[in-house]
Amino acid sequence: MSLPELFDTHAHLHFPEFAEDLPAVLERARAAGVRRFVTIGTDVETTAAAIALAEREPGVWASAGIHPHDAAAADEAACAEIERLAGAPRVVAIGEIGLDFFRNLSPPDAQARTFRRLLDLARRMGKPALVHCRDAHAETLAILAEAGVGEMGGIMHCFSGDVAIARRCLDLGLTISLAGPVTYPNARALPEVARFVPADRLVVETDCPFLPPQGHRGRRNEPAYLALTAARVAELRGEPLATLGPRLSDNARRLFRVD
Ligand SMILES: [Zn+2]
Ligand SMILES: [Zn+2]
Repeated sequence: MSLPELFDTHAHLHFPEFAEDLPAVLERARAAGVRRFVTIGTDVETTAAAIALAEREPGVWASAGIHPHDAAAADEAACAEIERLAGAPRVVAIGEIGLDFFRNLSPPDAQARTFRRLLDLARRMGKPALVHCRDAHAETLAILAEAGVGEMGGIMHCFSGDVAIARRCLDLGLTISLAGPVTYPNARALPEVARFVPADRLVVETDCPFLPPQGHRGRRNEPAYLALTAARVAELRGEPLATLGPRLSDNARRLFRVD
């Protein structure tokens, strides 16, 4: 049986967690049907590393961004450097950017400033925005609306809201990405979200090395496990993975404009 083709829309393959065994990690991913990946920058240094990896590895593209945790250290020079890096041919999106009021590792005003600055970059470049949002849905959606995110599109990555928030994201023109937490037995709103989002507005991701799906919790996550998350989403929707998987991949390819 051939496996349905999957696209990991949010991975951090260039992080140190994969430095020792990335070739084996990618081999396991491809054996599980995961053929395409966007490896996500979180500051200037990791964005440069993401691009370097995407330039040498087939099926891997990069994003350029500054994570809200790193926003306090991001001055205008850092944003200008992200802008320069975002011009590299393998960069398909701006992110991850957003707001995280759960850990608040950067002051909220610094987070909002960097988020707005890089949303403006996404709009000028016509590239989709990859949005990180934790305990900050009202503020994040307000900034996205003000920035007119529907024009360039984007992904609400590792979606953690409920159906009402998902509906507002869809109204803004965003695509919803589900990650490992949708597989957890105690997932509250996510199963309902998985059933609610139209198939042409949904993608999946690992966010590896973080957030492993059920069965791998407490260990390093890797792209091969995307098959578990996708299978759970298919089960929740009552749809065969054989048709849903390629459909979600098509959504990602359309958004990132890659083959
Ligand atoms: Zn994130
Ligand atoms: Zn991430």
